Amino acid sequence: MREIKRTINLSFIEENFRRLQKRASTSEIGAVVKADGYGLGMTSIAKRLAQAGCRHFFVATFKEGLTLRSQLTEETIFVLNGLSTNQPQNFHQARLIPVLNSLDDINAWSSAAEVTEHGCAIHVDTGMQRLGLTIAEFEAVKANVGLLNSLNIKLLVSHLSCAEQPQSAMNQQQLALFTSLSNGLPETIKSLANSSAVYLDPAFHFDLCRAGAALYGVNPQPDQNNPMQAVLSVSAPILQIRQLNQTCSVGYGATATMQPGSRLATIAAGYADGYPRQASNLGQVQIGNWLAPVVGKVSMDLISVDISDLPASAIAVGEMANLIGPLVSIDELASAANTIGYEILTNLGRQAETEYVG
Ligand SMILES: *Cc1c(COP(=O)(O)O)cnc(C)c1O
Repeated sequence: MREIKRTINLSFIEENFRRLQKRASTSEIGAVVKADGYGLGMTSIAKRLAQAGCRHFFVATFKEGLTLRSQLTEETIFVLNGLSTNQPQNFHQARLIPVLNSLDDINAWSSAAEVTEHGCAIHVDTGMQRLGLTIAEFEAVKANVGLLNSLNIKLLVSHLSCAEQPQSAMNQQQLALFTSLSNGLPETIKSLANSSAVYLDPAFHFDLCRAGAALYGVNPQPDQNNPMQAVLSVSAPILQIRQLNQTCSVGYGATATMQPGSRLATIAAGYADGYPRQASNLGQVQIGNWLAPVVGKVSMDLISVDISDLPASAIAVGEMANLIGPLVSIDELASAANTIGYEILTNLGRQAETEYVG
């Protein structure tokens, strides 16, 4: 019996890179490949994007940076989580650029001047309250010319909290703050936009955009048609087909009831494979060209789907059902599970056999 399987199309990731680059034509697209490339495989993706001309990469941790550096020699690699527990000389040796997030980071970096002359990035918080210097802290750094020169700030970063909501007033507020704090740093690359902000006004693009989710096919503009190419498909085999002769409840907690004559298929994937349990009674899987609704609770390794509307000839034990596929997008499964595509990407089928195509 075959098992759950993931297929990732690298040429579609490359195509998404080009679409983003076209949309932000006066800026450059950098690739965010943290969390193992949003679960899809950092090194395969980064190597492909580097070949396609991507010159800037973002990871979350120093360790991810080391792994990526062993694959990419020329490209610039930024470590979003900053120094964390690592020393400036570790970054220097690995040719990784930390995104300094606090005054502690800044002080540690500037006092290791002999190894830090290759420069750093700085994250200033304009509305997330998550990482980054406060605006006042950053203004104080800017006013201290000696410190400023010793830091050699290659890149200035801030992160939008509501970029996927074009109407949110937060966007304009953060844009105004970022514009004002980036004044007077002519040598520094400025970066505000994530994937969704690539589809906001070009004023958000600055010099470098940091695109993650959209590269992997997540819709950057949830209220409109997805401009990205679908990159991922995940499928799992049908283990059993059963016809019900009487009214029956289905699954743990007996949360669904089926009428006599209905048919169910049991599929070999569950929440242990990253299929969201929240999609119980709400998700759909694709079998052939049909959609089959999830019935009852998602179990650890299994889901049941209603195949009553499918012709009997359309389905057989051993065939594969698409959990993500042409008729079920990442965003659709995410919305059925009351989450976002990002979480589906980083969970679904991560242990599965993965094939890269394209
Ligand atoms: C994850 C991350 C990104 C990428 O965001 P997407 O919405 O996936 O494009 C950009 N910048 C920072 C600071 C991030 O943490």
